[in-house]
Amino acid sequence: MAQTLEKVIYWFRQDLRLHDNPALTQAHAMSQTVLHVTHGLTDEETQWGFKRHSLNRQQFRRQGIDGLRQALQNHGQTLVVFETYSAITATANTIADSTDTSNATSTIASIIALAHQHNIKHIFCEALETPEEEQQVQSLLAAGLVVNRYIQSCLYEDNQLPFSIEDTPDMFTAFRQAVENSNPYRKNIQPLSPLAHALKATPTRVIKPMSTQATEVILGAVPTSHRSSFPFDQPKWFGDEYAALQHVSSYFSSQLPQTYKLTRNELTGLNYSTHFSPWLAHGALSPRTIWQALQKHELKHGANDSTYWIGFELLWREHFRLMARKYGAALFRKNGLKKPAQTNQSRRPQELHASHSSAHTNANFQRWQTGETDQLFINAAMRELFTTGFLSNRLRQIVASYAIHNLRIDWRAGAAWFEHCLIDYDVHSNQGNWAYIAGVGTDPRGGRQFNIDKQMKTYDPDGSYQKRWQA
Ligand SMILES: Cc1cc2nc3c(=O)[nH]c(=O)nc-3n(C[C@H](O)[C@H](O)[C@H](O)COP(=O)(O)OP(=O)(O)OC[C@H]3O[C@@H](n4cnc5c(N)ncnc54)[C@H](O)[C@@H]3O)c2cc1C
Repeated sequence: MAQTLEKVIYWFRQDLRLHDNPALTQAHAMSQTVLHVTHGLTDEETQWGFKRHSLNRQQFRRQGIDGLRQALQNHGQTLVVFETYSAITATANTIADSTDTSNATSTIASIIALAHQHNIKHIFCEALETPEEEQQVQSLLAAGLVVNRYIQSCLYEDNQLPFSIEDTPDMFTAFRQAVENSNPYRKNIQPLSPLAHALKATPTRVIKPMSTQATEVILGAVPTSHRSSFPFDQPKWFGDEYAALQHVSSYFSSQLPQTYKLTRNELTGLNYSTHFSPWLAHGALSPRTIWQALQKHELKHGANDSTYWIGFELLWREHFRLMARKYGAALFRKNGLKKPAQTNQSRRPQELHASHSSAHTNANFQRWQTGETDQLFINAAMRELFTTGFLSNRLRQIVASYAIHNLRIDWRAGAAWFEHCLIDYDVHSNQGNWAYIAGVGTDPRGGRQFNIDKQMKTYDPDGSYQKRWQA
């Protein structure tokens, strides 16, 4: 494509990568000079009385940014980092219930200032259609900028799907079957091939560093642990694109995918599941890259139930993203996707979520957060979550169910605590899974309540997990 613009800004959001980044490719194709910017995470408070982002999460993103800066430098480019990401005073959970969209973020203010300083009209970035992220774009538009957005961290392009976004089936199984059956010649619709690196190996444009905009933040000590299932204090597990691509390559050259379905419910360790999620969440890795590596693995080592199940789980991720696009702010409301009448009149015991959340107490919530409940198994998991920023899927389900159905914690408070702790926090998957377990999301059974003793006996029969995290 001919270069038509003199200068544009590329804003890295949840896409801290050069590979498979169509928006970045477009920015470079359409302009002579690209100013690359991104943001760190600030320490704003949530409405629930704690900081929005843990040091763990800040540090993991910081690693991703450092890697991105290095990768750009290798192409003769620079990266400006705005440290004050989200100065929106309310979280997405409160925005959904309010009509006030007047807050501008300071990242946004910085981008606008940079655009004015350089006489830039066009911003390129990935599209994120959740309320807070949409609000950021609205602020850029209100400042007279043109925002070129691309949905690019999904498996499928919109026009590949056999339904419109508004008609995406709410039930995961219906969605999966539609996707799997829409192409009679293959098992699935195949995602497009991932794009190679957006930048040419030989630097063609050099941007002067803008040190006045870039501020280095020295983060405090980060609580890492040798017990972690994702020890991101070690270079192999750093949050950058380099480590992500290395991990994909080593995972799929091993035999681990062949047994994924048998091990994925384990509670702890480096190998029981793929561990792709932290890199996916910050966009250091694209899902299409994983899909392609999975296909290559199947060609070389054979396809089985386990390899299929890796794709199956990626479809869960895809479905939650589509649900967020379909329902927008509704996913952040107390009643989620349910109409108030549906929640109040329900007779099914699993669907008592509305009265559950009205029984929320700070005391119960704090006991859960700090791992001081009456259940040692739950306490162990909550300690692991807080200390390491990572938790197995099985334990996420168990602690979420315990919070919602046993302690009667407002599911949105639980989701906010996960947002604080998780290095792989992803708004779509987090909100979607919490709402699902609470019975206000897409679960056709109206919510999931786990029997904690049974889960403990099944998944930690000798109590070793509990001992590992007893203090
Ligand atoms: C209450 C709750 C909150 C969650 N919050 C998040 C979150 O903030 N960010 C996040 O990435 N995942 C979240 N999950 C989903 C899931 O727990 C993690 O994706 C998974 O544990 C990450 O480990 P992995 O990469 O080894 O997953 P694997 O088991 O190896 O799965 C491969 C990939 O499939 C996707 N995937 C797997 N399970 C799910 C699922 N249930 N929902 C959506 N995608 C899935 C992920 O992208 C994952 O990386 C949450 C689950 C629950 C029950």
